[in-house]
Amino acid sequence: MNLHEYQGKSILKSFGVGIQEGIVVDNAAEAVAAAEKLTEETGTSWYVVKAQIHAGGRGKGIVTETQSNGVVLAKGLEHVEEKVKGILGGHLVTAQTSAEGKKVNKVLIAQDVYYPGESEPSEIYMSVLMNRERGRNIIMYSTEGGMDIEAVAEKTPHLIFTEEIDPRVGLQGFQARRIAFNLGLSGQAFKEMTKFVVALYNAYVGCDASMFEINPVLKTSDNKIIAVDAKVTLDENSLFRHPDYAAMRDKTEEDPTEVEAGEAGLNYVKLDGNVGCMVNGAGLAMATMDIIKYSGGSPANFLDVGGTANAERVEKAFRIILKDPNVKAILINIFGGIVRCDRVAQGVVDAYKNMGSIPVPIIVRLQGTNAEEAKKLIDESGLNVHSAVLLQEAADKVKEVLA
Ligand code: GDP
Ligand code: MN
Repeated sequence: MNLHEYQGKSILKSFGVGIQEGIVVDNAAEAVAAAEKLTEETGTSWYVVKAQIHAGGRGKGIVTETQSNGVVLAKGLEHVEEKVKGILGGHLVTAQTSAEGKKVNKVLIAQDVYYPGESEPSEIYMSVLMNRERGRNIIMYSTEGGMDIEAVAEKTPHLIFTEEIDPRVGLQGFQARRIAFNLGLSGQAFKEMTKFVVALYNAYVGCDASMFEINPVLKTSDNKIIAVDAKVTLDENSLFRHPDYAAMRDKTEEDPTEVEAGEAGLNYVKLDGNVGCMVNGAGLAMATMDIIKYSGGSPANFLDVGGTANAERVEKAFRIILKDPNVKAILINIFGGIVRCDRVAQGVVDAYKNMGSIPVPIIVRLQGTNAEEAKKLIDESGLNVHSAVLLQEAADKVKEVLA
């Protein structure tokens, strides 16, 4: 589950990680009061207005309606309202969004932390994530933080360091110091960085995150180390033990069809092909997508209907698959083990009849208990449904109906 920057920062702060302070608002009138409050709390007189959407690249992104960037500086209280109006309610297009962009429903009013002082502020990159090959968490970091980290990774990968954490002993002090050293820090900034890294790693483990990306981590001109941005992804399987984090979910940022499928207990992921898939079991769903590709088609989705493929669930699955205008055919691939094939076939026929009509051809492959009876049911239904026994045969039929 992805979080907004302001939510990620609140979790970091609760674990003692230094952050750029801010207050989130959803209207321009509140923004000025928020800025005043920030000045009381932090002494800042400049503010950063930051669009809260589930996508990065906001600083370089453009709000379609106003041509404002998604992250802008307000040099004084009198500019806050105007800057907020340039972002809030608009559609922000960044390198990570679609061409329509994402609607901005909230903005974060943050303190300006790039103030001048004894040294230049510098932007550091840091992320914490699981290295699946090694089966261990790693901390990735670079002195080249800021808005061009993708280019750094591509052109100068030697400037990105990693520290691997042994799960038996956790992050060790010498590792935090090595990170601070490799980042070229000394004196107060070095000490602050080791504290920052330790707190950040504790937060990562403590909140059951699957990814932290803090870009930039800022070394301020007075040698504080703080998180200016926070991309936090939590492991959904752990949300049952963090009801406060679970409540942070913002469904408006998610694909509406995927949300609807989730509520119906269906495991659905939209893809961009033209063959809708309805399958029981995740492994079989993967195999089905492979065979569609192999036969020259392209899967429009991943959909696991789970163990109980009855008429009601099949109908719901049909409706969800058919919301995608690219779908030109549907392949149903069910293995009947505990659930008998004839019952699933009856479910397909009933769902079909209940929906009145389905605008695309359907290929059904049922294998397992009572497969013969199931085939007969499909063949004799009189509907635009084709049966198949072998997976290859099913894929060939898909090809046929698409041709
Ligand atoms: P992203 O573009 O979505 O990654 O958003 P960030 O939160 O990383 O902000 C983008 C950029 O805004 C940063 O790289 C900074 O250059 C700039 N920025 C963020 N906070 C401040 C601030 O307090 N003062 C100034 N002057 N610039 C800031
Ligand atoms: Mn960033």
